[in-house]
Amino acid sequence: MKIFNSLGRKMVKFEPENPPKVTIYVCGITPYDTTHLGHAYTYVFFDVLQRYLKFKGYQVNYVQNVTDIDDDILRKAKEVKKDWQELGQFWTERFLENMKALNVKPPTHLVKATQSIPKMIQIIKVLIKKGVGYETNGNVYFEVKKFPHYGRLSKSFKHQMMLLLKERGGDPNDPNKKYPLDFLLWQKSKGDEPFWDSPWGKGRPGWHIECSAMIYEFLGEQIDIHGGGRDLIYPHHESEIAQSESFTGKKFVKYWVHVCMVLYQGEKMAKSLGNLVMVKDLLKKYSANTIRFLLLSHHYRSPWEFTQDNLKKIDSKVKLIETIIGGAKNISYPSDLSNQNNLWLKKFTYLMDQDLNTPEVLKYLITLAKTNQPDQLKKIFQILGFKLT
Ligand SMILES: [Zn+2]
Repeated sequence: MKIFNSLGRKMVKFEPENPPKVTIYVCGITPYDTTHLGHAYTYVFFDVLQRYLKFKGYQVNYVQNVTDIDDDILRKAKEVKKDWQELGQFWTERFLENMKALNVKPPTHLVKATQSIPKMIQIIKVLIKKGVGYETNGNVYFEVKKFPHYGRLSKSFKHQMMLLLKERGGDPNDPNKKYPLDFLLWQKSKGDEPFWDSPWGKGRPGWHIECSAMIYEFLGEQIDIHGGGRDLIYPHHESEIAQSESFTGKKFVKYWVHVCMVLYQGEKMAKSLGNLVMVKDLLKKYSANTIRFLLLSHHYRSPWEFTQDNLKKIDSKVKLIETIIGGAKNISYPSDLSNQNNLWLKKFTYLMDQDLNTPEVLKYLITLAKTNQPDQLKKIFQILGFKLT
């Protein structure tokens, strides 16, 4: 199987470190608002990846986090006059409901950031001891100049990183920093913010350290696949690499896999732009299978624009497939359906092995439907996580 590694930006052979085990970590949500189609695209893609790896015989350990303490949550909690924990719990439950409705298999471990705070403190202590972390006025920073590979994943220059940092909630002008791109490992809690005791006073963790700590705690020092949306490459994943590799002295991630953004009305679908298509709204009108088909009809590395028209067209294709499968309910399946010599199976695995070419697989499903091959159709449909009614 070949997969595109964002680190190095090339297609490579997928060879996990300890087969048949595969370790996957995917950055999860910050629970302060509803799940939109962009979220669904990322998590449905990784759902298909984990299902396909299992189909190929791998034992998958998949961890996903919930960033349940964060500037956005605290801001929103104040806005709606709710306790930040209650707010996080509420939106986490809504997210899980949406994922279940879309037939997304839960990860092996779904972990809340606030459960791993002792581990984060332990890592930060080591980073300071190693001379790559420093404390100023109750804040602790990672000194990026001490990590020569900083910028390797995003392949960006200092001026580009400065712009992105501002755009993504960072503060290059923070006077406590030695260098504008240094990032927070620990931040002093302000006013009435929630806090945890630490050697640097009352505070809370920085965003990036959460994922490094949870990976270390649940999967180990090195993992096979680290995923997330493309917008997480810088600063989030770049910073995760710096702190994790400084902490362990080992290579952190073998394959970086990033899912493209979904566009709507000509722009990236984003909370800040207000152009969101909510999963719960789509589910009122369309089935989970139709939404999954829409998402998988795009390759995960190509940005695409959502339109209602396209969704309608997809809906009729899905209905055709469901009719063919449904009509074949009473057929007894040939026992050699999983036989490797089957051409249809070869075709399916060939396409999936090319960096998960789901758009071509779906076209093939339509061909199977039109040529009335329900058994094959059903099997592939199931592997891709579609519901069989
Ligand atoms: Zn993360």
